Amino acid sequence: MQPTARVIEIFSSIQGEGVYVGHPHLFVRFWNCNMTCGYCDTDYKGPYEEYSVQQLSSEVERLLLEDGPFQAVSLTGGEPLLWKDFLKAWLPWLKNKGQRTYLETNGTLPQAFAEVLHWIDIIAMDFKPPSATFDRAYWKEHEEFLRLAYRARKEIFVKIIATRQTTDVEMEYSLRLIASVHSRIPVVLQPVTPWGIVSEGPSPEQIQRWQWCAGSLLKDVRVIPQVHRLLGVR
Ligand code: SF4
Repeated sequence: MQPTARVIEIFSSIQGEGVYVGHPHLFVRFWNCNMTCGYCDTDYKGPYEEYSVQQLSSEVERLLLEDGPFQAVSLTGGEPLLWKDFLKAWLPWLKNKGQRTYLETNGTLPQAFAEVLHWIDIIAMDFKPPSATFDRAYWKEHEEFLRLAYRARKEIFVKIIATRQTTDVEMEYSLRLIASVHSRIPVVLQPVTPWGIVSEGPSPEQIQRWQWCAGSLLKDVRVIPQVHRLLGVR
């Protein structure tokens, strides 16, 4: 039986996070997530439409023609890797269309990632310190995920989402873990945009301390907030 996927929305906008901030992307937002981050601003359990591979291809093709060109098609969520069987069936079509694929992921599902990475061009992987998510720690999964991407020679960067509660110990642990895979993996320190039960981003002193610590371990570290939220675009 052909796989289907639940999709919350498909829209064109500006990439608001990470090293490709400002680029025009076409976003496909998949339903559901395996995490429950305290600052999550996405209604990932909200209304959705069920798409077959053919239906999603038609809709994406229409938007590519009407709103394109785009720098990439961003697979976002929720957690898009929850739909790995669908992605395995759909991504070959997207690549045949000559599109760059950009995976936005919480980096906690390495086995699912292994099954689709062949069709992924760019990976924007989150590191989720437990103080920011109010969830359990995912260090083991994050490390496995990152090593997999690096071994496959994929273009990957890591976003560390930080709040006022993020501790120096957590931050240093995250940075050392990334550096243990490779010191040239780009890292974005992303101060959280207050939302939900998270009411404060990190202080300027915290950000500067972490930037200094990161710079001593890694070659390419940038502090970038969520730009789409500053601009008021989705
Ligand atoms: S991983 Fe992303 S989509 Fe899932 S709960 Fe956390 S912030 Fe929300």
